Amino acid sequence: MTSLLRTCEPPPHRLRFSLPSRSRLGGRTATPSRLLPSARSRRLVAATAAMTTASGELGKGIAEFYDESSGLWESIWGDHMHHGFYDAGAPATITGHRMVEEALRFAAVPDDPLKKPKRIVDVGCGIGGSSRYLAKKYGAKCEGITLSPVQVKRAQALAIAEGLEDRASFQVADALKQPFPDGQFDLVWSMESGEHMPDKTKFVGELARVAAPGATIIIVTWCHRDLSPSEESLQPNELNLLNKICNAYYLPAWCSASDYVKIAQSLSLEDIKTADWSENVAPFWPAVIRSALTWQGFTSLLRCGWKTIKGALAMPLMIEGYNKKLIKFAIIACRKPM
Ligand code: SAH
Repeated sequence: MTSLLRTCEPPPHRLRFSLPSRSRLGGRTATPSRLLPSARSRRLVAATAAMTTASGELGKGIAEFYDESSGLWESIWGDHMHHGFYDAGAPATITGHRMVEEALRFAAVPDDPLKKPKRIVDVGCGIGGSSRYLAKKYGAKCEGITLSPVQVKRAQALAIAEGLEDRASFQVADALKQPFPDGQFDLVWSMESGEHMPDKTKFVGELARVAAPGATIIIVTWCHRDLSPSEESLQPNELNLLNKICNAYYLPAWCSASDYVKIAQSLSLEDIKTADWSENVAPFWPAVIRSALTWQGFTSLLRCGWKTIKGALAMPLMIEGYNKKLIKFAIIACRKPM
């Protein structure tokens, strides 16, 4: 999502936002050497090591944020808390399922009854919009995890209301320390949760760990632009803009889509594909802002209080980031080897 509702208090981890971007992936042995933190940033990485699971301040902030804001988001935009996918020139409407379908198509997830996914994990599930859609589409079992207890309750209630309680289940759990044994799922799904992860290498490592041999892994996430070969990090004015967005929406440091690709390669994942869908999501933020300016949106925002309003005021920064080609809306799909 990252909606008008990713608002609330600035996270207490601003330190990270000024790291050179190549160091923002979390240091693990699987990290290729060119991604290893530079000497300059090692101290800062060490300082943030305590936040590589969601048990830290960041995780608490994310949980509280979604506890507070999910109801408002649902009342305005429905149960899918992510960008919409739009054709060029098409008006922005509520198209949650379109984004899900585009991601499945991009990753070539098979519809064939013999090959379609049967066990799915939805990492950072929100109130389970993707989980229920995928469970229905494939007749699969889907397990969703989120940091927000309020989201779990709502996701469960919606699953019961749709008669899906035996196929879509939800729990509070950390994506960086998932409560599943190795090799469980034949579709591993992360729709707009990666941007919240303070350690991208650990994040992708967990996605790969719970994936069954041959499983498809799909990550749809906010990234920053790729760095040019001569660049060590983003420009100061770019970092400044991202800092403001992080402060409004409980996000740690960002990385690029090619950083994700390098992580996937380092984990020996196969058929790695990525695409920049920034153009396809461009109408989204203007539409969110328009919805916030309706009577319902406006009164809901007011009821949520100043922190939510402050977040809403930060929404134009997302548009600025896309316009400046700094923010990229990326999909990364890959497969775990057989
Ligand atoms: N995928 C959902 C929700 C996206 S909002 C949808 O498309 O509707 C981001 C979600 O990521 C929230 O549910 C939030 O709780 C979850 N999240 C963020 N960090 C997480 C973490 N470390 N572990 C599990 N969930 C996390």
